[in-house]
Amino acid sequence: MRISDPKILGALAKLDVELRQGTSLAELTSLGIGGTTDLLRIKKHESIPCLLRLLDGGGIPHKFLGGGSNLLVGDGELPWVILQLVAPEPDIVLEGNLAHVDAAADLGRTVTFCAKNDLGGMEGLIGVPGTVGGALRMNAGAYGMQIGTYVREVKLYRAAERKLETLRGHQISFEYRHTSFAPDDMMLSVTLELPSNPFHEILKGIRICNEKRRASQPLGQKSAGCIFKNPPGASAGRMIDELGLKGHSFGDARVSDRHANFFVNAGKASAKDMLALIADVRARVQKAFGVELENEVVVWNA
Ligand SMILES: Cc1cc2nc3c(=O)[nH]c(=O)nc-3n(C[C@H](O)[C@H](O)[C@H](O)COP(=O)(O)OP(=O)(O)OC[C@H]3O[C@@H](n4cnc5c(N)ncnc54)[C@H](O)[C@@H]3O)c2cc1C
Repeated sequence: MRISDPKILGALAKLDVELRQGTSLAELTSLGIGGTTDLLRIKKHESIPCLLRLLDGGGIPHKFLGGGSNLLVGDGELPWVILQLVAPEPDIVLEGNLAHVDAAADLGRTVTFCAKNDLGGMEGLIGVPGTVGGALRMNAGAYGMQIGTYVREVKLYRAAERKLETLRGHQISFEYRHTSFAPDDMMLSVTLELPSNPFHEILKGIRICNEKRRASQPLGQKSAGCIFKNPPGASAGRMIDELGLKGHSFGDARVSDRHANFFVNAGKASAKDMLALIADVRARVQKAFGVELENEVVVWNA
């Protein structure tokens, strides 16, 4: 979708919103798949209510992009524009055990910055790509921990009420790769409360998690992490592996040889290829195990 209304274009500049026309989502997502649309980069949180009124008024639908590491985006010209926050300087401010972090901050850098300041707890998140906002939305986690455990407060834009709001941690429910945020809530910043631990101790944990990731995941290949959520008490990857589906492919969309729940773009996979692979693997698992696998990857299909 292209924004062409001169009134909207003029207003964007006043709101300090940068317009990047005809951006390829394949270049902004870790899977390397996705068509083109206009990208709006938001430099000030305060611009958001006005920006969304402007887009709604112009009948321009939008989606919200973090780091693009958990997304499968459709092919071709996309029927919505993309909004993305630009991280301010600095994007992490510490205050005792509290870390005030902008939603656009890189998650890995946040974990290491806090660790270097003797604040731990998030060791399992090292190696999870993307932004802190995306991690909040997905309640990202690994190796027995999840980011939600440490959330004390979230500042967000509530699209339904068209206002900026602050939620305390206990007002939000964080479950396995699921949160109680409304689908159109936009996370703007978070305050994390982290346990004190000396850096050298945190580093040991980080190294262990890094090693586990390197040993089990196709890190050099284009993927979106795990495609499916693990069903209660079971492992999606193990079920797919037991069916002998490692290496199974549609076009260049392929089940990783290393981790059966990672589907990789081994060349020029399209969204159509990847969606066909997902549907096929889901049907085979359903037939063999009677389990309906739920996507962990977020699909934006036109
Ligand atoms: C190699 C690899 C390993 C991975 N390992 C893990 C893992 O161990 N554990 C795990 O949980 N995940 C893992 N992931 C998946 C992914 O990195 C996480 O889900 C990550 O938290 C997504 O963040 P993002 O900023 O990239 O979000 P995006 O992919 O950009 O977006 C994901 C969803 O969040 C929404 N969103 C993003 N930012 C915001 C915001 N500020 N406000 C509101 N909504 C927002 C988007 O609209 C979308 O619905 C892995 C991915 C890869 C490629």
